[in-house]
Amino acid sequence: MTTESAAAAAGATVFGYPRQGGSRELKKAVEGYWKGRVTADALRATAEDLRRTNWRQLAAAGITEVPTGDFSYYDHVLDTTVMVGAIPARHRAAVAADPLDGYFAMARGTQDAPPLEMTKWFDTNYHYLVPELGPDTVFTADPAQQVTALGEALALGHTARPVLVGPVTYLLLAKPAPGVAADFEPLTLLDRLLPVYAEVLAALRAAGAEWVQLDEPALVQDRTPADLGAAARAYRELGALTARPRLLVASYFDRLGDALPVLAKAPVEGLALDFTGRAAANLDDLAAAGGLPGKRLVAGVVDGRNVWVNDLGKSLATLGTLLGLAGRVDVSASCSLLHVPLDTAVEKDVDPQILRWLAFARQKTAEIATLAKGLTAGTAAVAGELSANRAALASRAASPVTHDPAVRARTAAVTDADGRRAQPYAERAAAQRAHLGLPLLPTTTIGSFPQTDELRVARADLRAGRIDTAGYEARIEGEIEEVVSFQEKTGLDVLVHGEPERNDMVQYFAERLTGYLATQHGWVQSYGTRYVRPPVLAGDISRPEPMTVRWTSYAQSLTAKPVKGMLTGPVTMLAWSFVRDDQPLGDTARQVALALRDEVRDLEDAGTAVIQVDEPALRETLPLRAADHAGYLAWATGAFRLTTGGVRPDTQIHTHMCYAEFGDIVQAIDDLDADVISLEAARSHMQVARELAAHGYPREAGPGVWDIHSPRVPGTDEAVGLLRTGLEAIPAERLWVNPDCGLKTRGWAETRASLENLVAAAREVRAGLTADGA
Ligand code: GLN
Ligand code: ZN
Repeated sequence: MTTESAAAAAGATVFGYPRQGGSRELKKAVEGYWKGRVTADALRATAEDLRRTNWRQLAAAGITEVPTGDFSYYDHVLDTTVMVGAIPARHRAAVAADPLDGYFAMARGTQDAPPLEMTKWFDTNYHYLVPELGPDTVFTADPAQQVTALGEALALGHTARPVLVGPVTYLLLAKPAPGVAADFEPLTLLDRLLPVYAEVLAALRAAGAEWVQLDEPALVQDRTPADLGAAARAYRELGALTARPRLLVASYFDRLGDALPVLAKAPVEGLALDFTGRAAANLDDLAAAGGLPGKRLVAGVVDGRNVWVNDLGKSLATLGTLLGLAGRVDVSASCSLLHVPLDTAVEKDVDPQILRWLAFARQKTAEIATLAKGLTAGTAAVAGELSANRAALASRAASPVTHDPAVRARTAAVTDADGRRAQPYAERAAAQRAHLGLPLLPTTTIGSFPQTDELRVARADLRAGRIDTAGYEARIEGEIEEVVSFQEKTGLDVLVHGEPERNDMVQYFAERLTGYLATQHGWVQSYGTRYVRPPVLAGDISRPEPMTVRWTSYAQSLTAKPVKGMLTGPVTMLAWSFVRDDQPLGDTARQVALALRDEVRDLEDAGTAVIQVDEPALRETLPLRAADHAGYLAWATGAFRLTTGGVRPDTQIHTHMCYAEFGDIVQAIDDLDADVISLEAARSHMQVARELAAHGYPREAGPGVWDIHSPRVPGTDEAVGLLRTGLEAIPAERLWVNPDCGLKTRGWAETRASLENLVAAAREVRAGLTADGA
């Protein structure tokens, strides 16, 4: 340990904090503004107030340097687009006329100008607005928002550090603007973008910034030598500027790998690195790269993405090692705390014994402050915190909630055979054909039907005690009757019950599985003003009783046609929850799979001949680095097969996925060994069907022929065209006819019309096939 590092007091900082406020004030203000009920001035005042409250809360918790610029009305990547002046042409007039309205127009679209596309921020459940760039893009610096926020924090007496999306990541996250060649690479604009960042940095320096953080999480993904060269050039040039604050380049969500030596050598004053989970490899890599002598290291040792208390002793050991590797070490969360809820203290329904295992944003800031204090003053200075922390960890490790002997014994007894169907697909397909008696090109839907106001009212009535369980269930049955009778009338072949009892496809099951917790206020931003409340997968998972059988059976009692049972798969159950971090994800997935396997068996015993296990999250949970893909896909497909592998040969297993980029996981889709898969395809004109065919996919598939993300009703001719395109790739005996996804966000009017057209299209194409003698 150098004398310099021993003498320096470790700072405590974060990269960002939940934006919405304790009572989701921001959501209310922004949506109120959209509806004309809140003025622009009132919205701005609410925003300023929220920023002030956050900084005060952070400082009071012992954070010595607060972030600025992490606040956003909608999305921080869109804010960066504004900061560099990359406003898409179709929104320029609106932005010029009124920057705030123009900003929301880019986010939400207007009658004439569609919004920017939205996609997931790395492998989180936060969505950002994708920058649209082209060879003609002209960047101009607009640092006002950043300068204002910094000024506010400094005026309140805080030590503050603006946090910006870095130039390399900004370009790597962008896509070619409409009308620009698809192979255009936004990174080629780097030389044009750097002067704009230089201007922003100069403006922040002039406004009093000592340090500015530039986030480069894109560098934790597999990058080409050219990308890494661009990163080296970017930081060489920004480092060489004279009028600039000190620069802290941050990465998170995974290890930096080859990018680490690049950034370590760059002429910047500090790096922020993630040392949690998969990114823990940064520790050895940093040592191998020779450390950061004389520089600042911000060590992300508190996981910014999970909800569990930190192991403070372990973190202090890591920090101690890091002291020897940098000139100065500060403590932080691994990434912005945007991805976790605000405060556990308001959760009154969680057992206090379990609540002490949990750390949301406020608790994590306290942990960071404790670690900084321990690093500066020695463990004796935080003895009380350390012993409370050890007690919380011990309570979690020894709890029957996290260690249910029955679940453990059952998981340990799982064999490969449990995950294998008893017969190969060809034999199963024949048995299913005999069992189900379906026509060629069978029609079906993905599960949910419109979630009507009546259903939402029924749920609210039940919660408020205005109706009892029997009253609620009667309403659900009424809805199922309507959905079934509509499908019969329309002539669909495989029916569904419509999922009216489900508020959310993960939450519904989480509420019925032991080992899952629900929070009351655990909101996290999904996108814009949309917040989700992911359940917490806290312990060993078991299923006390059937979860779906009564609704599926009720639907089946109303019709002679097969009704498809509908379950959420194990990978998706993990992906859209906060998952325990005290065992490998694959072990957790296996427990969930066994619970779902019981549900599958009960459905089958109740006479359900078709069972769909949805895995829309299979693709999105793919690890950021290719080297980790195989390990992930092995446990993910294994969990799916464990869920479905126990059924009879004549029971047909379906699965469903939403996203359109399947190229890199088509082998994994094949490995699921589902009899039928339905996929999103309408917008990409059956691209998925071609990809499956190119892979030699041997089983049945339903590439969607109706883009359900839009209220537009596809005409019969259009669906016929898509089906004929599908038939070029998939033979008629293996092609299904269905929409892209569930219909819960659609209205009844377009649902009726679209499904009628879809059935008509299937009949028309079917008739042609029989006439051909095919
Ligand atoms: N069965 C679900 C539904 O129809 C599937 C939803 C999804 O893929 N996200 O709503
Ligand atoms: Zn879907």
